[in-house]
Amino acid sequence: MPTYKAPVDDVLFLLNDVFHVERFNNLPGFADATPDVVEAVLGEAAKLTEEVVQPLNRIGDQQGCTRHADGSVTTPAGFKEAYKQYADGGWMGISAPAEFGGQGLPVVMTTVVNEFLVSANMAFAMYPGLTQGAIAAILVHGTPEQKQTYLPQMIAGAWTGTMNLTEPHCGTDLGMLRTKAVKQADGSYKLTGTKIFISAGEHDLAENIVHLVLARIDGAPAGIKGTTLFIVPKVLLGADGKPGARNAVTCGSIEEKMGIHGNSTCVLNYDGATGWMIGDENRGINAMFTMMNEARLGVGVQGLAVSEVAYQNAVTYAKERLQGRSIAGVKAPDKPADPIIVHPDIRRNLMTMKAFNEAARALIVWAGLQSDVAHRSEDQKARQAADDFMGLLTPVIKGVITDQGFANTVMAQQVYGGHGYIAEHGMEQFVRDARIAMIYEGANGIQALDLVGRKLGKDGGRAVMAFFAEVQGFIKEHGGDEAMKPYLGPLGEALGHLQQATMWFMQNAPKKPDNAGAGSHDYMHLLGLVALGYMWVQMVKAAREKIAAGANGAGERLNAKLVTGRFFMERMLPETAAHLKRIQTGADSVMALPAEAF
Ligand SMILES: Cc1cc2nc3c(=O)[nH]c(=O)nc-3n(C[C@H](O)[C@H](O)[C@H](O)COP(=O)(O)OP(=O)(O)OC[C@H]3O[C@@H](n4cnc5c(N)ncnc54)[C@H](O)[C@@H]3O)c2cc1C
Repeated sequence: MPTYKAPVDDVLFLLNDVFHVERFNNLPGFADATPDVVEAVLGEAAKLTEEVVQPLNRIGDQQGCTRHADGSVTTPAGFKEAYKQYADGGWMGISAPAEFGGQGLPVVMTTVVNEFLVSANMAFAMYPGLTQGAIAAILVHGTPEQKQTYLPQMIAGAWTGTMNLTEPHCGTDLGMLRTKAVKQADGSYKLTGTKIFISAGEHDLAENIVHLVLARIDGAPAGIKGTTLFIVPKVLLGADGKPGARNAVTCGSIEEKMGIHGNSTCVLNYDGATGWMIGDENRGINAMFTMMNEARLGVGVQGLAVSEVAYQNAVTYAKERLQGRSIAGVKAPDKPADPIIVHPDIRRNLMTMKAFNEAARALIVWAGLQSDVAHRSEDQKARQAADDFMGLLTPVIKGVITDQGFANTVMAQQVYGGHGYIAEHGMEQFVRDARIAMIYEGANGIQALDLVGRKLGKDGGRAVMAFFAEVQGFIKEHGGDEAMKPYLGPLGEALGHLQQATMWFMQNAPKKPDNAGAGSHDYMHLLGLVALGYMWVQMVKAAREKIAAGANGAGERLNAKLVTGRFFMERMLPETAAHLKRIQTGADSVMALPAEAF
């Protein structure tokens, strides 16, 4: 059975030593996040996720969710009790505003707690994850009355939330959606249509479910600019604000799927369900984007989290499993064979996962801090810079971390040999669970297109130029330090590849857009590698400073950072050259064959 230990020390290293979270103390909520509070919150989160949520991961996979004849859905055994503990502990709203019952702590705290939760049980974590996305959308786009009506209950975890975009004939191309909204005399709307693949669409964890539904008001223009967002509660509220009559939205079925069996993926039928507009008419996609951006970061966290738990178990197995002898000489003469961790090919797998996970965690923590700046700073320039950073790196965090996160679960499975393929050790569940993160919230191909097609050129390339300048600035500032050269040299080279690729698009995409489409996946990964490399140089610098200052008993962990950073620079970052080369070949061989030739 897999086990899990929340990487609390690593998170504390990032917050305290790498990003110096105290620098953000001028932002609301940060002054409350004193080192003691942060440590206590992370310690409690570790306990909840390791002891309560993780033991349900296998059960959830085996039992799945059950839909009953009346359309109600039962979650796997133990989910209800664990969710109650989660809600009672105030975890849903640790970063939500205090005026609605939240704790107002920095967003980055939710980000790291969510990593622990997903590692412990991805299917379970999706119930609160979707709710946090819906809370974010209501906070930004809701009227004062809508906020008062829904947020306190959602933040308390008494009600959950969903996101309803997908319909049978449209997933990526939401301009085709058909769910209809007809205005009523009292200002409400009646919604009719079918939504599919709705995560956490029906369940028994909470007394109400607040569906955020993208629909088309009768007579609205065709296409994406004719869509509007609506709040449609599963149970309508009585005059006292308490759940009363059932609304006309029902779960028609739940999908049989590859993984995340513990999460109910529903077909939801709206048969004249009562809803209220949120945000502006025909600008639903803008409101939805607030939720989608949150959700995309959340899905990036999923990529890391499943990769992390798979890695942890692969390490344990590699230390225990005895097979063959080290080619460098016997390591365990008292045993019939050496543990497989002595073999370089097993090490290659473990180091790849480790080097990726630690940098991905840094990037996610950094993005969480940027999100805090973007939402909470009073300095308009700082807000804009943080917003630019988030815009540029959201598709990277979603696309790259889920692509590599999935690849890592396969690597971890490989470490187990045949024992990874059978169900007993739980490794194949990680592979199955991680796979969806590459698909939903905009398939990764769409993330790459968003990056190259929209984000790169936005505001005259301001965001990407600022990113180049920041990385270049770091390299210049520390370039004189001999010990940093093995890290900064490769990063400088990789940044050069990224700049060349960006230039190539500027010169070759306008006259032939397929050049951008054909190179977008490579560009997303090229930018991802440079961003992860930038995280590594900052971690190495912080580790060296701590070692120089005496390390306080953390010497082994800090030395491991220096070695792991070198592995990343030597064995992973050189991929940037191949990405650049592929980008520069353009779209010709990709697109030359007529469709009939396939
Ligand atoms: C388990 C699960 C949970 C989900 N949860 C939710 C949820 O809670 N709420 C919700 O609304 N939806 C949800 N979804 C739906 C999910 O977001 C969509 O499946 C996803 O956005 C892709 O849409 P699609 O499946 O229709 O694929 P399509 O849009 O048909 O895309 C098929 C392929 O074509 C590619 N493609 C499409 N258009 C282009 C283009 N213009 N250029 C290049 N490539 C393109 C895509 O990248 C993809 O690889 C969920 C799906 C699953 C399986």
